[in-house]
Amino acid sequence: MIYRGRFAPSPTGSLHFGSLVSAVASYLDARRHEGAWYVRIEDVDKPREKPGSAASILSTLERFGMRWDGEVLYQSQRHDAYAGAVARLLDEGKAFHCSCSRKRLAEDSRPGEEGLIYPGTCRDGHDEEARQLSVRLLTDDEPVQFEDRILGLQTHQLEREVGDFVIRRADGFHAYQLAVVVDDAFQRITHIVRGEDLLFSTARQIRLQHALGIATPSYAHHPLVRDGSGHKLGKSTSAWPVDSARPVATLGRVLEFLHQQPVEADTIDSFWKQAIAGWNIEAMQHA
Ligand code: GLU
Repeated sequence: MIYRGRFAPSPTGSLHFGSLVSAVASYLDARRHEGAWYVRIEDVDKPREKPGSAASILSTLERFGMRWDGEVLYQSQRHDAYAGAVARLLDEGKAFHCSCSRKRLAEDSRPGEEGLIYPGTCRDGHDEEARQLSVRLLTDDEPVQFEDRILGLQTHQLEREVGDFVIRRADGFHAYQLAVVVDDAFQRITHIVRGEDLLFSTARQIRLQHALGIATPSYAHHPLVRDGSGHKLGKSTSAWPVDSARPVATLGRVLEFLHQQPVEADTIDSFWKQAIAGWNIEAMQHA
């Protein structure tokens, strides 16, 4: 089987325990399948980037003995590819310009699981005088289904649950949903293993793949690391930066979190050998 996996951190802070879990899960799954594992720095959202964090994330991965294949891909270098995809979607009538202000959206939209559900306001035309326009992908209520390797069958109806979603923001930056789909295709990624916080994004990404005529990879979403009050650990909460002074012990905690058999290792190399041999993603099903 051809297996090309990836870890795609956003450089908004140093690697915290929650993103180490994603890195390790995607790495082990790739290596267990004798596959390739790529690293992509998702620095598409420049205003949210913290200077120095991309380098810090990469050196932390190295300190944990995680070796990636090929060159690191930076989304900040990929503007033309994203612009090309948006232009195509607009040309083909699969996307449209939107002039709605935040205020207008707040007034017109119902809240959904992930923010406001776009009510379709600009589908048939936008305010020609608006200075800043976003671009949205046209959705419908045809169910989007995928079989998650951990969570089983997922079904979403985008128009009802999310609405037409932004692929290029009004400030000109391309949206994560678009960039991730264009880059997963560019890097010919076949398997995606990432946190459950992105489960809801997957339906949007599959819809975009269909619109762009791109194959859909296989998906697995692992449980999230939460803090004492049940909130997901995010780089922005800066909780639990990883302890890279004792990498084997830290990696052991990651393995335990991922419901894997414990390994007895004195060195990082021996840790990886055993963890790869024992990797069983199914242990997280129904966990
Ligand atoms: N860049 C995203 C994040 O750090 C992850 C993207 C992905 O794995 O698809 O949350």
